[in-house]
Amino acid sequence: MSRSAIVITGGTRGIGAAIARELAASGHDLVLAYRSDTPAAALLQAELRSGGARCEIVQADVTVEADIVRLFDAALERFGRVDGLVNNAGATMHIGSLADTPAETVRAVIDLNLTAAVLCARQAVRLMSTRFGGAGGVIVNISSGAATLGSPGEYVHYAAAKAGVDALTLGLAKEVGPEGIRVVGVAPGTIRTDIHADAGDAGRPERVASRVPLGRAGEVEDVAPLVGWLFGPGAGFITGTTIRVAGGS
Ligand code: NDP
Repeated sequence: MSRSAIVITGGTRGIGAAIARELAASGHDLVLAYRSDTPAAALLQAELRSGGARCEIVQADVTVEADIVRLFDAALERFGRVDGLVNNAGATMHIGSLADTPAETVRAVIDLNLTAAVLCARQAVRLMSTRFGGAGGVIVNISSGAATLGSPGEYVHYAAAKAGVDALTLGLAKEVGPEGIRVVGVAPGTIRTDIHADAGDAGRPERVASRVPLGRAGEVEDVAPLVGWLFGPGAGFITGTTIRVAGGS
C-alpha cells in the first residue's frame, strides 16, 4: 500500500500516538480518534502537521456505536476513502482477581477491548471491502500478551477480551481476505504507558522487567515500527495471525 488513509482509535496517547508518528513518517493520511478532552490530541495533530502529514483528530468514544459511525464518516469525508484501521483503544481498568473485579468493570473492559474493536472492524470492512466497492485495506488489531498468558490474579477479564480480539483477527482475515483486506494482530507485552497507572498499578513495568527474557519492559517505540511495516508492501502476504512484541515473555 502506498499513501493510505488510516483510522487509529486511541490514536493520541501511548502506543496509539507512537503508531500515528510512525505512519505519518511513512507518508500516510491519518484520522486519530480520542475520547478524553485533553490537549494531547490537538498537540499531536499540530506536531504531525508541522512534519507535513495530513492528520485529522475526531473525538469518539468507541464504546458508542454512533461515535464509531461518525468517526469513519469523518475519515471518508476528509480523505474520500478509508484504507486502514488500527484498533488500538483499550484499557485494563482494574487489577486484582476476577472474584474481586466489579461486574460493571468486567462489562466495561469487554465492551471497550472487544466489542468496540469488533464494531470498528465491521465499519472499516464496510468501507474497504471490494464487495462494497472499496479498494481493500489493512486492519491491525492491538491485542496483548495477556490473551495467551491469561494474566491470573491481575486482569483475567481483560485477557479474555484480548483473546476475543485474536479470534477476531483470525476469523475476519479468512472472511475478508477474498475482499482485498488483510487483518493482523499485534500483541505487546508490558509497555511503559499510562495504562498501568490508570488501573492503579503504576509500578508494573518495573516489576515485570526482571521476568522479561530481554530484561526490560517495552517502550511504545518497540511496537510502532511493526505496525507501520504491516501497512507496507513487505507485509502483503501476512494475514490472520497475531505477532507478539514482548521481549520473549
Ligand atoms: P494508554 O492508556 O496510554 O492509551 C489508551 C488509549 O485508548 C488512549 O488514547 C485513550 O483515549 C483510548 N481510549 C480508552 N477508552 C476509550 C474509549 N472508550 N473510546 C475511545 N478511545 C478510548 O494505553 P496503551 O497505549 O498502553 O494501550 C494501547 C493498546 O495497547 C490497548 O489496546 C492496550 O490494551 C494495548 N496493550 C497495552 C500494553 C501495555 O503494557 N501498555 C500491553 C498490551 C496491550 P484518551 O487518550 O482520549 O483517553
